[in-house]
Amino acid sequence: MSKKIAILGGGESGIGSAILAKKEGYEVFLSDKGKIKDKYKEVLRHIEIEWEDEHHTESKIFDADVVMKSPGIPDTAPMIVELRKNNIPVVSEIEFASWFSETPVIGITGSNGKTTVTNLIQHSLKEGGIDSGMGGNIGNSYAKMVAEESHDWFVLELSSFQLDGIEKFRPHIAILTNITPDHLDRYDYKLENYIASKFRIVKNQTEDDYFIYDADDKNITDWLEKNPVRSQKLPFSIEKKIENGAYIENENIVVTINNTEFTMPTSELALQGKHNAKNAMAAATVSQLLRIRKQTIRESMSNFQGVEHRLEKVLKINNVLYINDSKATNVNATYYALESMESETVWIIGGVDKGNVYDDLLPLVNEKVKAIICLGVDNQKIKASFGNIVENMVETTSMGEAVQMAYRLAEKGDNVLLSPACASFDLFENYEDRGRQFKEAVRNL
Ligand code: ADP
Repeated sequence: MSKKIAILGGGESGIGSAILAKKEGYEVFLSDKGKIKDKYKEVLRHIEIEWEDEHHTESKIFDADVVMKSPGIPDTAPMIVELRKNNIPVVSEIEFASWFSETPVIGITGSNGKTTVTNLIQHSLKEGGIDSGMGGNIGNSYAKMVAEESHDWFVLELSSFQLDGIEKFRPHIAILTNITPDHLDRYDYKLENYIASKFRIVKNQTEDDYFIYDADDKNITDWLEKNPVRSQKLPFSIEKKIENGAYIENENIVVTINNTEFTMPTSELALQGKHNAKNAMAAATVSQLLRIRKQTIRESMSNFQGVEHRLEKVLKINNVLYINDSKATNVNATYYALESMESETVWIIGGVDKGNVYDDLLPLVNEKVKAIICLGVDNQKIKASFGNIVENMVETTSMGEAVQMAYRLAEKGDNVLLSPACASFDLFENYEDRGRQFKEAVRNL
């Protein structure tokens, strides 16, 4: 008799799991409490899977041998609690997919930089002639790739929600970019829970595996002091010398693995700023582990095109550079954006605040920001935090207005930076929509 799986959620990971489960001979039932997008309904019809949306038929879900829970559904949802009480295993799509693949995984998690590092690694593997598929929390789900693609490696971006539901998933190379408070609403507002969730990425690693992480991040190093990790550690740092791993010396990246050294001037990196030097160190460490030629690693780190909405240079108009960092939805990301500004900056900030504390930004704002353009429905906190140090502050309610205002305030040689430090839902559909509107408004100037 075939096994039964109930898939909760009909987004990217739900559909990917459905495709894989069907291929592996499961009897599949997919249920989404909300509305499933038409493009996904199309797929479900095409592969002939039983599904429902806008409600859950509990009898069918509780009849399953295993349940795949999409990352958007919290563990505390009553149905999930009930399923577990009934001893029905509830796993994430990442766990489920890993049951059917022998392909080694490079898994990337962290609060910020995941997408950048994932793309940078994929780029450098490609340049190095290594066949890999990229996906996970971006692009195609891991499950879909396992079902449909064959590669020598998978490069997976992993969110903490995806890691929460793993049991046996074991990446051969795990990367933890950094940990700063985010999504705490899903972790009982306890930072330690969120940290533990990120560290699940190393939970099943063995001595044959590798763990690459930011050695300057106290949340990471404190955790490591208390919790042993079996895999081989290859930290990176911009503050101190690292014997086995990566660091910066005389403005050169130095990566040492088993006494083999790779070096490259930071000035040649495609992506500038300290945070990107860290991202490059993580990616170069992976490339070196996979024995890509040093010259090829150097080339790939310097010809990488960057990722849309992450410190993306849009246009120079009247010698003013417009930069789209719409993906900066928290204070830490914006910190690094401001930190990397080399000219006076007109800063567009605002949106839905996730409990932001702006104190860390004050010295940078003081040094680099000549004007603040608030772009959000409620700008009180921004005004209270920066009103004393930046005199020139205006409020706007649309991207068009904000960019027009920036155009008026910026002078030759300045930057205009959209790095909102907030989520976008008050005025935009999502951060991509916000970034695209910014670019369009800039192009229309
Ligand atoms: P994620 O996928 O983790 O959200 P992204 O690569 O999409 O990360 O970058 C999100 C934001 O964080 C962008 O504004 C980007 O410029 C910034 N950022 C990128 N790398 C880092 C890093 N290592 N540390 C802090 N911020 C970063």
